[in-house]
Amino acid sequence: MKIDDYVAAGKIAAEVRENARKKNWIGTSLFEICSDVESEIVKRGGKCAFPVNASLNEIAAHYTAEPNDQKIISDTDLVKIDLGVQINGYIADTAVTVCYDPQYDTLVQAAEDALKSAMSMIKTGVKASDVGRTIENRVKQFGCKPIINLSGHSLGQYTIHAGKSIPNVWSIGSFSLSDSEAYACEPFVTTNKGLGFVRNDKTKNIFALVSRKKTKNDEADKLAEYIWTNFNMLPFALRWIVKDWSEQKARELLDVLIKRKVVHAYPVLVEASGQRVAQAEHTFIPTESGATITTLL
Ligand code: MN
Ligand code: MN
Repeated sequence: MKIDDYVAAGKIAAEVRENARKKNWIGTSLFEICSDVESEIVKRGGKCAFPVNASLNEIAAHYTAEPNDQKIISDTDLVKIDLGVQINGYIADTAVTVCYDPQYDTLVQAAEDALKSAMSMIKTGVKASDVGRTIENRVKQFGCKPIINLSGHSLGQYTIHAGKSIPNVWSIGSFSLSDSEAYACEPFVTTNKGLGFVRNDKTKNIFALVSRKKTKNDEADKLAEYIWTNFNMLPFALRWIVKDWSEQKARELLDVLIKRKVVHAYPVLVEASGQRVAQAEHTFIPTESGATITTLL
């Protein structure tokens, strides 16, 4: 584990997140939000660990702008901006919810506070299920519901979900946090009218290479090679490949790679009853006395 790279990635991620929090995005398109935040990462010497997610209202996660996505933020919207920075494959994963409808301020506060409570109990040896219990209790104190089927995760080099989950509710079967691993903690919160879980939507606009096998389609193999060279096995967006391929061609070739199971497409995740969702997220490394929260500014 390269702690210096984790810390450097975290510093960039924290700065970019705080700028995104302060900015007034009303009237801005999702395409502009994603490309603006991504260029802030690159400007600071980081690489994007995944396409910036700009998930609106009832969309909980995994939405990134399509090429030329012209959906505009209005003064009643709530948008989760989830960004990832990597340095030599060591990742900082962090998120902020910006909300322009005061009716949903409590939702945002619940996610932020639950994350804060979780961070304050972290140290080496703490059980992930106990972190989940803390998040659940805090969220419920706000009269909100945690999303039970979204969770935080361990991180690995060039790997965003490295196998272990930090739940947002108490759950059976767990593990103890180790000081030799980095983790992301990310409470997702919905209203008390929500079902408290997400379902997969038909839309898929985030992809990742999952295999390096050949497809016998030369053009598709060339795209797979390009993806490997530029993004490794980390997620990418169509926006990122249309500089070198036309949008239509890129979609065609991606479909080939998805059918051959060379590329995985992530479905957009939506609150099951269509209620709004807020999120907050930090990346941390446990220590004997607490945690190095790499994405704390
Ligand atoms: Mn994230
Ligand atoms: Mn995450």
